Amino acid sequence: MEEVPIPIIGRRQVLVKVGACGVCRSNLHMIEGDWVEKGVPAKSPIVPGHEVTGKVAELGEGVDAFKEGDRVGIQPLWSTCGRCEFCLTGRENICLSKQITGETVDGGFAEYMVADANHVYHLPDNLQDAEAAPLFCPGITAYGAVKKAELRAGKRVAVFGVGGVGHMVIEFARLNGADVIAVSRSSRGLDLGKELGASEAVDISKGDREDWLKRIGPVDSSIVFAPSTELAELAMRATKPGGVTVIGVFVEIGTLPFVEEKRVVGSVVGSRQDMAEVLKLASDRKIRPVYEEFELEKANEVLKMLKTGRIRARAVLVL
Ligand SMILES: [Zn+2]
Ligand SMILES: [Zn+2]
Repeated sequence: MEEVPIPIIGRRQVLVKVGACGVCRSNLHMIEGDWVEKGVPAKSPIVPGHEVTGKVAELGEGVDAFKEGDRVGIQPLWSTCGRCEFCLTGRENICLSKQITGETVDGGFAEYMVADANHVYHLPDNLQDAEAAPLFCPGITAYGAVKKAELRAGKRVAVFGVGGVGHMVIEFARLNGADVIAVSRSSRGLDLGKELGASEAVDISKGDREDWLKRIGPVDSSIVFAPSTELAELAMRATKPGGVTVIGVFVEIGTLPFVEEKRVVGSVVGSRQDMAEVLKLASDRKIRPVYEEFELEKANEVLKMLKTGRIRARAVLVL
């Protein structure tokens, strides 16, 4: 914990007085140096945190979509180039020149943060800062993954990992009418999965692979947010021929059984349009993040709790 000056904003930027910021497993990966080889963080020291809500405190030159005091949120996609083939085709989340909140630029584990006005979102009035914060990473990440899983009524989907993102994957999958099988190693995750409407919760802390496969599969789609190569392989095996496995974590995917025409698709956060859709669904109370609040000063303690599996769904730091 350190005192730093209030950041100075530039043209088309907004200074946000942070009200809440979710604590993501990827924050923990970065802080522990797991992603140094991937160039993350891009600078050091850095302020982590990428699911941020708060109030506009100051406007840079050329910002007309916001005024001081507006309630806003910021997602991991801090900025995009707006010109590359991906930005021009609604896939700005894979822009090659994107900046990532809390990984390449300072994020929200702080009292103030700078945001790019083109990537700031108005918060619906009926959502509090703390409950809205998880929408900006787990919410949009889960939404993007569920879209790619091609779900609808009558489809069966297995969700691997019921944590910050996984619990929202279950909510969106249920919203699409799919039958959900929650797969987790923790009793906390299994209970949460059932609470959110999973028709079955498969405990993979005991038993063996063949046994798990029988209980999980065959499913039309599978979605993996548990950072485990073993579970990614299990997900692919549990998926029917022609089905899709969506992966949102770093894993090895091994051999792809092409003769079964299975597809494996990566998914990372989402576009501004996706974010707007998530905020609308939350405002309409179709989805609700599950979270616990902690004071910002407890950030290090919360990261330790996350590491040792003591957080239910999502921890949110509040100011
Ligand atoms: Zn995150
Ligand atoms: Zn771009």
